[in-house]
Amino acid sequence: MIRARFRVAMLPAVVFLVSVAYAPMTGAQAPDLSKIEYRSEKLADNLQALFGGGGNIAVLTGPDGALVIDSDLVELSAKLRGVLAQVSDQPARFLVNTHFHFDHAGGNTTLGRGGTVIVAHDNVRKHLLTRQVVNVGVEIATEPTAREGLPVVTFAEGVRFHLNGEDVVVTHVANAHTDSDAFVFFQKANVLHTGDLFMSLGYPFVDAGNGGSLDGVIAAHEKALAMCNDATRIIPGHGAIVGKADLQAYHDMLVVTRKRIGDLVRKGRSLEQVLAAAPTREYDARWDQGFVKPEVFVQRIFIELGKPAKAGAKKG
Ligand SMILES: [Zn+2]
Repeated sequence: MIRARFRVAMLPAVVFLVSVAYAPMTGAQAPDLSKIEYRSEKLADNLQALFGGGGNIAVLTGPDGALVIDSDLVELSAKLRGVLAQVSDQPARFLVNTHFHFDHAGGNTTLGRGGTVIVAHDNVRKHLLTRQVVNVGVEIATEPTAREGLPVVTFAEGVRFHLNGEDVVVTHVANAHTDSDAFVFFQKANVLHTGDLFMSLGYPFVDAGNGGSLDGVIAAHEKALAMCNDATRIIPGHGAIVGKADLQAYHDMLVVTRKRIGDLVRKGRSLEQVLAAAPTREYDARWDQGFVKPEVFVQRIFIELGKPAKAGAKKG
């Protein structure tokens, strides 16, 4: 019953994500991906962010070859390859995927075929080896990735890169946005790429069907915030570049909202009662800008916190 309502109610919230690549499934108006032009934002002499059609990208350039974070949608991969050739006079030597989702790893095969070494958490490779389904209200399926698009170097906890005068720390966080997440910190530039552990334009999407959990997202923020200072610039998975205070505010919003919903779940309140209590009330003005609407965010936490299997593990 809840599942049925949940799935129907999710539909309006996923218009952005679905409309980018999967409009035919939903009847939504598809944006013309051929009209998307990459926009870049310089963060240091050798580091820039690229904004295309899916997840945000970071590119570290220099004589040692480019290091690219995330590869956008498959439909944009030829365009991405062109942009990378413009911003870097050296080949894209390494690609790191922040997680396996199709809007962050869609360009893997194109880059891999060009000789780029793909590096990611163990579970990114596991997911990309098989057909993947992401439930964003409708189920989005992605076929197994071709051999050249798979990570050839994988890690369990993290990995460090040392090139182009930069030290890059890649850190895995367990069961957060998915079960395959890592965030990337450029130490000298003082820039953090969070992948979808943080979206600066709105409420989070937690991919519970692929090992994600809100508590994991909250824990991931704590780990990432510990690396940041007031001068750190943060490239979110989606949305504009922000600072530490913005990630801290987002984190605090999640903690408060989770506690409110958790308290109501423990009191046996129904989804309707929890929604009526408006647990995100003071946050909507700021965070209701993205594709996850507040009621959908609340429903997802309600379902996650209400799962019987987690009853003994609840805290807060
Ligand atoms: Zn994602």
